[in-house]
Amino acid sequence: MSEKIPVAVLGATGTVGQRFVQLLADHPWFQVTALAASESSAGRPYAEVARWVIPGDPPPRIAEMTVRPLEPDLPARIVFSALPSTVARRVEPRFAQAGYAVCSNASAFRQEPGIPLLIPEVNADHIALIERQRAERGWRGFIVTSPNCTTTGIVLPLKPLDEAFGLRRVLAVSMQAISGAGHPGVASLDILGNIVPYIGGEEEKIEAETRLLLGRLEEGRRVEADLVISAQANRVPVLDGHTVCLSLGFERPPTPEEAVAALTDFRGPEVVRRLPSAPARPIVVRPEPDRPQPRRDRDAEGGMAISVGRVRPCPLLDLRLVSVSHNTLRGAASGSILNAELLVASGVVGE
Ligand code: NAP
Repeated sequence: MSEKIPVAVLGATGTVGQRFVQLLADHPWFQVTALAASESSAGRPYAEVARWVIPGDPPPRIAEMTVRPLEPDLPARIVFSALPSTVARRVEPRFAQAGYAVCSNASAFRQEPGIPLLIPEVNADHIALIERQRAERGWRGFIVTSPNCTTTGIVLPLKPLDEAFGLRRVLAVSMQAISGAGHPGVASLDILGNIVPYIGGEEEKIEAETRLLLGRLEEGRRVEADLVISAQANRVPVLDGHTVCLSLGFERPPTPEEAVAALTDFRGPEVVRRLPSAPARPIVVRPEPDRPQPRRDRDAEGGMAISVGRVRPCPLLDLRLVSVSHNTLRGAASGSILNAELLVASGVVGE
């Protein structure tokens, strides 16, 4: 690539926005040229308004940048959106209309027809929806979305198992980190030494998004996977890293050894494997009886791999396992950057 592609981050001051800033500081294809956030941050230096919650400090070049308002006049071709969903619903279409490629982390448009919900290793072919999206909405640009952070840690291991053995039923019980709620998020008095068995809208998102991601394209439209899924979402006092216990029912139930082989061998399509942020192994299988754990496994493959373990028979359905994923990396900023890399490699966003 001769010159880097200029990119902007919307919601750059937040928990996910900070991850974008950190990851994009040295990206081989992309260069951050603008940061935007709410009216209260706009006009002020980034380092002053971003309450930095990740290790280290903001990269020096970016720390000095002035935060801009959320207007579609930013000097960028791709915008990464880490806005709350209600704000994204209003703002993202304005950017798409103005010609930007919007890579969104918000839930606002994930389930809308014509808007891809993407995990490159799982359903890279869904970028074909972009053409219809532009035509139907009259946009010069477009929106692609990343899944809910918990959904990502569920769907990646389900993909190879579904392909090999025909997935039919899923019971998913999550233990989700507090960084998943953004900043300031859950009050410390509510979560320290405690578990909160409710995350508004989360269970519905996990169920609907899983069916969309494992679904297929038919005549340019998404057809949901024929799958029964029951999700129970819990907030636990872990800083980063979502853990999910899964029980799975199949058309052709595998032995644990067959399931481990399918998980270990899983790789995305060739075009995805060559992307700069793609992990060598999208799924890392841990053989130890007490892994995966969020603190020890969330950073596998730079936070891009889903760690899976405890693969064993299930007396209720067919198979049980545990997955751990990094919610602000693979589940948010890094996942969205991988989507943008796929768009560039596929020629949807030109150099
Ligand atoms: P956050 O920490 O609360 O950050 C929100 C960002 O949006 C901040 O930059 C904030 O700017 C800006 N913002 C808030 N209200 C605004 C308004 N009314 N107008 C304009 N800008 C506004 O949230 P987050 O956890 O980073 O999440 C961002 C998005 O990513 C959400 O849609 C979330 O559901 C999704 N997501 C989060 C995770 C995760 O693990 N946290 C994972 C996947 C997806 P100011 O600083 O100026 O207020």
